[in-house]
Amino acid sequence: MTSIGNHSPQPADSLVEPRVIPRAQHPISRKKIAPNAVKILYRLKNNGFTAYLAGGAVRDLMLGKTPADFDIVTDATPRQIKRLFRNSRIIGRRFRLVHIYFYRSERPSPQIFEVATFRRPFTPEQDDPEILEQEPSLANNLFGTPAEDAIRRDFTINALFYNIADFTVVDHVNGLADLEQGIIRIIGDPDRRFAEDPVRILRALEFSCRLGFTIEEKTARSLSSEAPSLNTVPAARLREELRGFYCKKNTAAVLEAGQRYQVNPHWLPEIVIAGLDDALPILRRAEEFFPHRDNDRELERVVITALIFPALLNEYPVNSEVRLNLVQEKVEELLTPLNRRFNLPRVQRYAIRDILTIFYRLSRGDKRIKQLLKRENFFTALFFYAVVATASGEQAANLAFWLQRRERLNRHPEARGRDYGKLLASASITAGYQP
Ligand code: ATP
Ligand code: MG
Repeated sequence: MTSIGNHSPQPADSLVEPRVIPRAQHPISRKKIAPNAVKILYRLKNNGFTAYLAGGAVRDLMLGKTPADFDIVTDATPRQIKRLFRNSRIIGRRFRLVHIYFYRSERPSPQIFEVATFRRPFTPEQDDPEILEQEPSLANNLFGTPAEDAIRRDFTINALFYNIADFTVVDHVNGLADLEQGIIRIIGDPDRRFAEDPVRILRALEFSCRLGFTIEEKTARSLSSEAPSLNTVPAARLREELRGFYCKKNTAAVLEAGQRYQVNPHWLPEIVIAGLDDALPILRRAEEFFPHRDNDRELERVVITALIFPALLNEYPVNSEVRLNLVQEKVEELLTPLNRRFNLPRVQRYAIRDILTIFYRLSRGDKRIKQLLKRENFFTALFFYAVVATASGEQAANLAFWLQRRERLNRHPEARGRDYGKLLASASITAGYQP
């Protein structure tokens, strides 16, 4: 295989013999792998290449969970992969890898698989710095060996391979032991690996929440001490990471862990942290209530709204007769630091302002309900209204009024599948309204 740079012999390979677990001793069956991923693995193998399933897919299959996606690694170069699959495209400037597309008649969007060549990071001890001067994108894109590809990954449980050639699981990092014991352990020197990519700090929290795993002691200590480097992470990446949390219903849990590990001050604005104790129960309700995966734009609005909600209520309590333009100004002000962190698109900021405006109109018993009902963000706002009214036990008559319209709510496409009736009923408010 092609290898850029002068890096032989490979230290990772000579030092660590991988543990190879035969088919009979692990639970991964081909039946549990997406058929198209199996096809890709076999085509690579039948053409003489090494082909592994990698990353989260192996971790989840080992745990008996259904993986979100099936990433594949191979010793074929992107060009060689491209040549084997007509339905593929080389993507990425920094990491060159191949996407393979499968179009399905029953779904509008294709199923996409990511196939990457084994790679290793640039190391000044090993590599000629000149290659970086000529081609900076190579910093993370040097072809490597399977062992090198394993140790460049974040956590031991994320670095397992499943080999299609003999159905074994290949473990270069002692990840299986950690998987069995429920441990999140960063690979290599914790301080260095977190400093190298601070997003791993948030990923550690997320995996520990999602899987119910313990963060290993050194990893834990280091993620707290390296947390200040989160300040340097570009907004787009933080926003993407946050998206990962709410798509997995994990936002409240991760933020709570972020408090415990003293990570939050380094990636969330002060205004959010000050109100976090009040925002967490709302986030938890939201994660139960909103259907996930299908509309992540709405989820993002809900999460950001929940994060600034306590500060807003602090300024303008639920029943205050505040002028709506003052509410809107305050929302803008509260969104400013969040926008700096996450670079929220304008359409999202407007939507959040709209949600909170509708919220105050509902909370003061605005009579122009029919008009409000037509607003795109009405149903999101209704959630916040129900949650607060529940907490304060106020506005009983109004809530009951809305309960009456439950059927109408369920006819709206945005509201379909969500039990607003139940949400409102949990306020245990049925009295006080005369039709
Ligand atoms: P999920 O179920 O959330 O998709 P995942 O483990 O598959 O979990 P991805 O973000 O899809 O996570 O990344 C795929 C794999 O790439 C990871 O399992 C890990 O091996 C590697 N990886 C991802 N992000 C990093 C990172 N920041 N540093 C090192 N390795 C990473
Ligand atoms: Mg994944």
